[in-house]
Amino acid sequence: MRLSRYFLPVLKETPAEAQIVSHRYMLRAGMIKQQSAGIYSWLPLGFKVLRKLENIVHEEQMRAGHIPMLMPTLQSADLWRESGRYDDYGEEMLRITDRQGRDMLYGPTNEEMITDIFRANVGSYKDLPLTLYHIQWKFRDEIRPRFGVMRGREFYMKDGYNFDLTKEDALHAYNRHLVSYLRTYERMGLQAIPMRADSGPIGGDDTHEFLVLAETGESEVFYDSAVTDISLGARDIDYDNHDQCRAIMEEFTALYARTDETHDEAVFTQIPEARRRVARGIEVGQIFYFGTKYSEPMGATVQGPDGKPVPVHMGSHGIGVSRLIGAIIEASHDERGIIWPEGVTPFHAGIVNLKQGDSAADAACDSLYAALVAQGLEPLYDDRKERAGGKFATMDLIGLPWRVTVGPRGLEKGVVELTCRRTGESEEMSPQAAVDRLVQIYAPHRVSGL
Ligand code: ATP
Ligand code: MG
Repeated sequence: MRLSRYFLPVLKETPAEAQIVSHRYMLRAGMIKQQSAGIYSWLPLGFKVLRKLENIVHEEQMRAGHIPMLMPTLQSADLWRESGRYDDYGEEMLRITDRQGRDMLYGPTNEEMITDIFRANVGSYKDLPLTLYHIQWKFRDEIRPRFGVMRGREFYMKDGYNFDLTKEDALHAYNRHLVSYLRTYERMGLQAIPMRADSGPIGGDDTHEFLVLAETGESEVFYDSAVTDISLGARDIDYDNHDQCRAIMEEFTALYARTDETHDEAVFTQIPEARRRVARGIEVGQIFYFGTKYSEPMGATVQGPDGKPVPVHMGSHGIGVSRLIGAIIEASHDERGIIWPEGVTPFHAGIVNLKQGDSAADAACDSLYAALVAQGLEPLYDDRKERAGGKFATMDLIGLPWRVTVGPRGLEKGVVELTCRRTGESEEMSPQAAVDRLVQIYAPHRVSGL
């Protein structure tokens, strides 16, 4: 993309309404525009990051054997009356009446709808196990929408639902989700720690939230610092292997890590003092096992091996896709702007032409651009007639992890400069070497999409 043809409305001033750094940078980098409280337009740069996250989520869900689909945002109130949640959910639910006077709602989550789809189409235990998911906009009329996309009213969420014959199988689905979520967050350059949590209005017994540690997080968390030393890394995972998934779940949840709702001071104080941490975190996902809470009242049964109908065991599993963008920025920025992890960056590299209009510099930028595109990379070429300082400031603000700087003086020596946004280190090399290096850097971060 050439910047002169793009739509990147960066702001010089810091918007007064933004209280935390991710919100400030998302507004300044022209990623979002607020339309009303907690409701945003996703401008091109923000939309690009949202799509990247969504693709990673899809890839990891499908890798775990979960099946993508799409349910509508608007739902009939009748389904929610069946589960008893129409009254329970309270004022967070946006209720709408259509022209026929029918009660509708903008879905805050989809347990009821997926259970309805299941009961209409699945009749036998032979069709299990089954996990369906979608990535769709949700609406919760939050009492205090704030921090930009972090606590919106309209937000983008992946929600998945497992249907299993037995509790044991459903617990495997729980573990499988836990493992696939760990992989998902690691690919986004994040450490998200599973913490034992409270189930809230979803209901159920087993639940973990995934928290990204950040001072601006809304949750208070208590943990053993040793949990921050564990990572999944490049392990081979067989998602059908119950023992392997259980072992990974146990490895990641054995050490103390809880939100304030489940915190137990007596257990906490048994951790060696030097490892006790009280901090804040951003909830970026949650998994639940809730057994037959929805399948029983809604009649979602299958014919079991003995021919008798049995209600299915279910769980639901959510990732806050739009909130993740805020969480990533909270975890990865400096005083000049965002620093995108390679896995989620909207463009792979910026190209800065130090002397637009100089025929050698223009030609070198054009061929560098073409070479990167030919390698399947997406450069953002700042081809505007602007001072170098202004171009650098824009690149730093929007946070592309790598920048190639091209100018007449370097070109006389046959070199361009490759700069790492995170470390600030620069290295001179031939344009071809810069292309090769970027191809190598991004090799582990290719996303196939759907
Ligand atoms: P919270 O406690 O932050 O209100 P929740 O526990 O009610 O969230 P879940 O029902 O677990 O939310 O939804 C799954 C994920 O969706 C959450 O882990 C979070 O990342 C995201 N999410 C929930 N509410 C919002 C919101 N208002 N804005 C943006 N993301 C949200
Ligand atoms: Mg939650």
